[in-house]
Amino acid sequence: MPEVIIIETDYEYNSLKRRLIPVLEKLDSNRIKNGDRVVVKPNLLTVAPPEKAVTTHPVIVRVVSEYLIDAGARVQISDSPAIGGFKKILKEGGYLDELGHLEVEAREFKETAEIDIGEPFGMVEIARDVLEADHVINLPKLKTHGQMLLTLSVKNLFGCIVGLRKPQWHLRTGVDRIRFAELLYLIARKVNPLFTIMDGVLAMEGDGPGKSGTPVRLNMVLGSNDITALDIAVCRLLGVSPERLLTNKVAFSKGYRPEEIRIEGNKKSIKNFKLPQLGPLIFGPSVLHPFMRRHLIERPLVDVNKCLQCGQCWSYCPARAIEKASSAIEFDYERCIRCYCCVEVCPHGALTKEEPLAGRFIRSLLQRKGA
Ligand code: SF4
Ligand code: SF4
Repeated sequence: MPEVIIIETDYEYNSLKRRLIPVLEKLDSNRIKNGDRVVVKPNLLTVAPPEKAVTTHPVIVRVVSEYLIDAGARVQISDSPAIGGFKKILKEGGYLDELGHLEVEAREFKETAEIDIGEPFGMVEIARDVLEADHVINLPKLKTHGQMLLTLSVKNLFGCIVGLRKPQWHLRTGVDRIRFAELLYLIARKVNPLFTIMDGVLAMEGDGPGKSGTPVRLNMVLGSNDITALDIAVCRLLGVSPERLLTNKVAFSKGYRPEEIRIEGNKKSIKNFKLPQLGPLIFGPSVLHPFMRRHLIERPLVDVNKCLQCGQCWSYCPARAIEKASSAIEFDYERCIRCYCCVEVCPHGALTKEEPLAGRFIRSLLQRKGA
């Protein structure tokens, strides 16, 4: 039965450990055996200190790792960061300080192996470490996401797609959010973590999931044996209808039954959590779509005063739609597929999304006419 356990806590090591260990024992139920190889998958999106709320807090990774080591597991901590260098993320994200004394191996996903995730995508390359592990433990961060509304349990496992294959998938799914959500859902189900522990102590609201988002203290950690159950529970706590998170919607379309979820632990609903502005990627009569896509729909925008021309965005852009300009950067909006990877990876918070004025005007006209 899908089960979600909610605990109220902060990041103080001793009190976190006291509260979290019983959750881990319950979710594990003695399934981790002596000698098992366990891959722990936190959210290590980019180089950021814990107070930015971009990455899973290192003390949570530490307590989970200690639990696994005590159970006799060989622990590997891995992700495939969007940008920034794995070693630097470990250092500046506080992981070396928290984990340095433990017998864990911290290693970036590099090698891949193919696995069939089912129609319509078929064979997909996933981190070999994940496929060969005895168990995967999923450690997402509770954050908003400019393209997908929120990044929670299911989305965190997209990090098992290695390196530049991630933006290539954005390119293949294009502006179709539901298609992308289906890809995320099928990958996550295939990875099938033994359990998930979500860091919602210092979460992120607003323009997440990168450094343009705003840290917000929610003081909770959630655990579950089921990724979708956990994402549904978080949506309910935030006052978001669960099907607004498209990975949940995909799950419902495949027969997932939310009424079977059992919730343990009290957490009052969270008031005034700020979601990102998800402007429509495309709208109106289909005959106008090509024109609208080029000139009217929401698009990435640079703040020239913040851009340091570091090149992270143009090296990551799957559509090669960004070029260096005399000051800052320039977008080719005809090529841009509106995946917002650039907004996600910019280390200086210089990128946002904006719907052009003309787009807003025409959309309101179309809506008034019921288009
Ligand atoms: S927009 Fe951000 S990522 Fe792109 S070059 Fe400027 S600072 Fe770097
Ligand atoms: S410019 Fe940004 S939003 Fe457009 S395709 Fe490139 S990474 Fe995606």
